[in-house]
Amino acid sequence: MLVVKKFGGSSVADKERILNVAKRCAEDFQKGNEVVVVLSAMGKTTDGLISQALEFTPTPKKREMDMLLATGEQVSVAMMAIALGSMGIPAISLNAFQVAMHTTSEYSNARFKRIDTERIHHELDAGKIVIVTGFQGINKYDDLTTLGRGGSDTTAVALAAALHADACEIYTDVEGVYTADPRIVPNARKLKEITYDEMLELATLGAKVLHNRSVEMAKKYGVQLVVRSSLNTAEGTVVKEETKVERMLVSGVASDKNTARIAIIGVKDEPGVAFRIFQLLAKANISVDIILQSIGRNGTKDISFTVAKTDLHDALKVLEENNARIGAEKVEADENVAKVSVVGAGMQTNAGVASDMFEALYNVGVNIRMIATSDIRITVLINEADVDKAVKAVHDKFMPDNAMFS
Ligand code: ASP
Ligand code: MG
Repeated sequence: MLVVKKFGGSSVADKERILNVAKRCAEDFQKGNEVVVVLSAMGKTTDGLISQALEFTPTPKKREMDMLLATGEQVSVAMMAIALGSMGIPAISLNAFQVAMHTTSEYSNARFKRIDTERIHHELDAGKIVIVTGFQGINKYDDLTTLGRGGSDTTAVALAAALHADACEIYTDVEGVYTADPRIVPNARKLKEITYDEMLELATLGAKVLHNRSVEMAKKYGVQLVVRSSLNTAEGTVVKEETKVERMLVSGVASDKNTARIAIIGVKDEPGVAFRIFQLLAKANISVDIILQSIGRNGTKDISFTVAKTDLHDALKVLEENNARIGAEKVEADENVAKVSVVGAGMQTNAGVASDMFEALYNVGVNIRMIATSDIRITVLINEADVDKAVKAVHDKFMPDNAMFS
């Protein structure tokens, strides 16, 4: 059996943790499996490197940031190979060049295009555990690229797909995917299974457990994932196409504070206005989530929408520079907002989820500022200060004691 095992930064944060991971990989290897290990940078290494760079300038070149950040994963894979070697287990570390893992050229947000499997197979055939750097790739200029924060999950899934692995295990410091963030909702429960679509919504809407592109890729290539703890042997959560258990109405509640609201007030109520606004934002690579347009009055209307807080500055700049084309009376921004979402495949066939969610929010006095829905999610925009209260109330509403939870 060929297994891809990915360990996050907290799972390799220090010597003890590295030895713990090495032991787990060695056990798998000694059972006769072919083992490919993908690692993140140790602990908070990536954060540390970013803040060091920002001491020079708030806008470092993305190419140089990728060059810098890619060092983190190189440290952890070498350490792991050294640790395994100290235990008498044959192991070799490989970086993005050595594999090679080819990506698009977009620094800090690259996507995989192609992964060569020859070198990895060669090392596996030679009887070694192969340890590969997560998060990084190389582009057509032979430069290092990175896949965006949390991108090592995507490396693991991409490798599992390219190698036709029999299993892809994502090890982290929690025991799996929960119905809500256990730090906010202490009685949140671990899911046994979740579908790709639900997981993708949850990952995109703020659940930090998996990189959303890794889920996208797992769905595309049919790679079944297990999310589990590196610190114990609890079973974890399986992410796959269809869940066996009866569909739950709601499988998770997620929140995202990296959200800001922009209101464009008093634009002309005529064709082409929304097109011009959102085309400008798209060209600037700014994704927009919830969009709301007011009813026209006296020939004008308002358009409001949300963007990531980290994109707010750029979005406002684009709008201001192009206001001659947009013709707004004024543009307002509010950073003190957050999204709360419920996600569940069962929603497709059940009316009333929205009203139950709104009732839960009403009961704790939370005001809803915007609403967006898809067939498997409902998202509301609320004041940031209300997030924890709202998540708890919504979770309580939808999560009765239930045999489907482990
Ligand atoms: N080390 C990178 C980060 O901190 C990638 C990862 O952990 O997946 O974002
Ligand atoms: Mg992660």
